Amino acid sequence: MPAIGIDLGTTNSCVAVFRKGQVEIIPNEQGDRLTPSCVSFTSEERLIGDAAKQEAPINFENTLIQIKRLIGRTYDDPVVQEDMKLWGFVILNDGNKPKIPVVQCYERKVYYPEQISAMVLEEMKKTAENYLGEEITDAVITVPAYFNDAQRRATKDAGKIAGLNVIGMINEPTAAAVAYGLDRMNESERNVLIFDLGGGTFDVTVVKIQESIFEVQATGGDTHLGGEDFDNRMVDHFVEEFKRQHDVDVSVDRRALNRLRVQCEAAKRKLSVSTQAKVQIDSLHEGIDFRSSMSRARFETLNQDLFTKTIETVAQALEDAKMSKDEIEDIVLVGGSTRIPKIRELLENFFRGKDLCRTINPDEAVAYGAAAHAANLSNDESSLIKEFQLHDVAPLSLGVEVGGCDMSVIVRRNTNIPFKNTKNYTTSVDNQSSVLFKVFEGERAATKNNTLLDSFEIDGILPAPRGIPHFDVCFDIDANGILNVSGRDRATEKCQQIIISSDRGRLSKEEISRMVAEAERYRSEDALWKEQSEARNMLENYTYAIKHYIENPENCGDITVKEQSKVVDKCNEILGWIDNNKNTLKKSFESKKEELKSFCLPVLSKISGGTDLLESLEKKD
Ligand code: ADP
Ligand code: MG
Repeated sequence: MPAIGIDLGTTNSCVAVFRKGQVEIIPNEQGDRLTPSCVSFTSEERLIGDAAKQEAPINFENTLIQIKRLIGRTYDDPVVQEDMKLWGFVILNDGNKPKIPVVQCYERKVYYPEQISAMVLEEMKKTAENYLGEEITDAVITVPAYFNDAQRRATKDAGKIAGLNVIGMINEPTAAAVAYGLDRMNESERNVLIFDLGGGTFDVTVVKIQESIFEVQATGGDTHLGGEDFDNRMVDHFVEEFKRQHDVDVSVDRRALNRLRVQCEAAKRKLSVSTQAKVQIDSLHEGIDFRSSMSRARFETLNQDLFTKTIETVAQALEDAKMSKDEIEDIVLVGGSTRIPKIRELLENFFRGKDLCRTINPDEAVAYGAAAHAANLSNDESSLIKEFQLHDVAPLSLGVEVGGCDMSVIVRRNTNIPFKNTKNYTTSVDNQSSVLFKVFEGERAATKNNTLLDSFEIDGILPAPRGIPHFDVCFDIDANGILNVSGRDRATEKCQQIIISSDRGRLSKEEISRMVAEAERYRSEDALWKEQSEARNMLENYTYAIKHYIENPENCGDITVKEQSKVVDKCNEILGWIDNNKNTLKKSFESKKEELKSFCLPVLSKISGGTDLLESLEKKD
């Protein structure tokens, strides 16, 4: 059983496998190599991928997009608060965890982000299973380099809910570097800059490739910068324009905003190839049509600061890697937004006219690298992978709070992982009986500007003057970037192992098991639905075939008009029944078919070719 690599993107996902010495990107049932990371609930079924995306303009309350933005975050996270304003669906606050209510088959359901991501992952799993013809459970899932600990863990949980065994996680830019470097492992040492600008996140990574070792030198980026921000700038611009023209505010109308956003995204893509794009929406708001256009130059002006920010991040990453521009051999573009000409131009200028690498498909590089990593990890002889090693880094500094407000760093940003470091702390007042350690992530000196990950307490400290007790706090980051923290009181040998608690956006073990069971139920519901609709289609085809056959006067020489209309009437009766019984069990469709068959047989057997027709219809089943 091969292990697959999944790029679980904010906007699009992609799955790949390493087989017989090469990576294959796996197309989905529609033949697309990218599947929109989108789930939609309708009155009849659950849709995933492109079919779900099509629902967005009409059924936006139940069409969930960009769920990766929510994963591992708390409800009060400023990112969640900002994003909520833009989405057509609602976010609820459940003990500071975001939850999404939807109406599915006339029933209200509430989902955690992990469950929705799990549905996308399951779709990718199914895509791979159809293609490879066997069950797949082992997978490597990619995450943005900038994902924090809670986001990584939540992604892993989503994998679990989807029925996957997550054998590893790999940072997206590192995976892209593997895609680039896999067949360059024999060449001399080279430094590559990976520039990944997708729908919602931006990652820059400097990787040194030396023989079979991929060593990340530095990483930087922004968890809130990507294609959607460019779309939103355009939306804001048109909202203003609409206000000026008609003196009404479209931004209060969720449906209108959503329709406008879909059009803006399309216009943006058009602007990557032409210098002008039209935006036209009938009856956008209060019956008023909207007609406008956007030039490439204006689009670039609207986004100038965001575009410039990407270049500043590149400069920072080089500084962190202690490298000059000239030491970069190749610039690898990843993500749909790197198709924007201005972005390419700014990058080329920054690197003094250097050509950007064009051999790698920006949409597929991440899944490609993930599949290679999966083969590497699973040691599958048949995959014939040339072994390689990944040395990644921690994207953010990690530490604990001291003196009630200061950050004491235990793991510095850009430290190579896996990594383990222990630091010693003490009490601040005499006879302190317990000490609380708050774990933070971030680069600022004051903890109030960093992100609180979790906290733990060591109690039962023996009475002693301040500064005498000793506590060893150990931060241990594994190769997937997941942090384990432990604290130990030297005097009492008392240990505390930190488990990132559920109120920081994590799900508890019990909740995950419940969701695994729930996902299985949906899987069987989906299978049942598919089975029913197949049986329904079969009955419908069967009925129409008989009806068309008997309605043709050429076939009816040997029977009376009465016999003919009896069969036609019966067919019409069955078709009417199908219309009124769309959600009936497979069994009922099958028995209706038998009913029709025995009803028609006496008449059809009088006609030459009549029984042949029934036989050929049976064979089609
Ligand atoms: P993610 O990694 O976030 O899933 P992708 O790498 O698939 O995202 O990129 C999706 C983003 O790329 C979207 O915002 C989309 O609008 C944008 N995009 C796709 N094609 C183009 C294009 N030709 N020009 C500009 N932007 C594009
Ligand atoms: Mg991506």
